[in-house]
Amino acid sequence: AIRLSGISKSWGAHQVIKSLDLEFERGQLVALLGPSGCGKSTLLRLLAGLETPDSGSVEIDGKDVTTATPSARGLSMVFQSYALFPHLSVAENICFGMQVRGVHAAERRQRLLDALELTNLQGLEQRKPAQLSGGQRQRVALARAIVAGHSICLMDEPLSNLDAKLRHSVRHEIRALQQRLNMTVVYVTHDQTEAMGMADKIVLMNAGSIVQSGTPAELYETPSSAFSAAFIGSPP
Ligand code: ATP
Ligand code: MG
Repeated sequence: AIRLSGISKSWGAHQVIKSLDLEFERGQLVALLGPSGCGKSTLLRLLAGLETPDSGSVEIDGKDVTTATPSARGLSMVFQSYALFPHLSVAENICFGMQVRGVHAAERRQRLLDALELTNLQGLEQRKPAQLSGGQRQRVALARAIVAGHSICLMDEPLSNLDAKLRHSVRHEIRALQQRLNMTVVYVTHDQTEAMGMADKIVLMNAGSIVQSGTPAELYETPSSAFSAAFIGSPP
């Protein structure tokens, strides 16, 4: 499990994350849901090690990683901007990290082929990012996360650059991949239909605190506050 205990983070006088406790179970897709500015990305970056908390601790599978570097935490990240190298082909983009880490060429090739198949990108490996659709680019970003071979993947609004129709299909692809590879995914979104449609569990945040957490059905059927009800869109 991934455990955050008493995590706080301030920017100047503004406390963005307020002494928050949270646990993510292995093999689940958990959506961090909440309005713009509530602290979702900050929380994800604290988990990734891209920010250091002012207080509190981060544990992964019983190991304290509060001060560990991002690369020592054994996780992948997927961002909304894809962050692909424009001058590299699809295959080179996917393999870049493995090359840096010194993965053997034969092993790189095998993982590349597996990832291309899993993300339905076969035949596109020689294209440049500019020659791909938004959905295809997002799948390259996913493939790149998959070949790293980490069992934890953090995603920050990975579909927000896609149109509504594509969002729907890529959402299902992400969910299917997560289940097939038994990955632990923390998925940041401000879109309640996305969270409701794909998550095992939803953590609803507001202003740096957790308002409610539970299965999509629990949040929908028994919202704990007016805020939950309004945000989830529960029937009155
Ligand atoms: P969105 O849905 O718009 O992406 P979010 O829930 O991801 O929002 P965060 O990006 O975590 O929100 O930001 C939470 C608050 O912290 C915001 O008020 C933001 O302005 C502030 N913030 C985030 N990063 C920094 C920073 N590096 N310096 C100062 N303030 C920051
Ligand atoms: Mg954000």
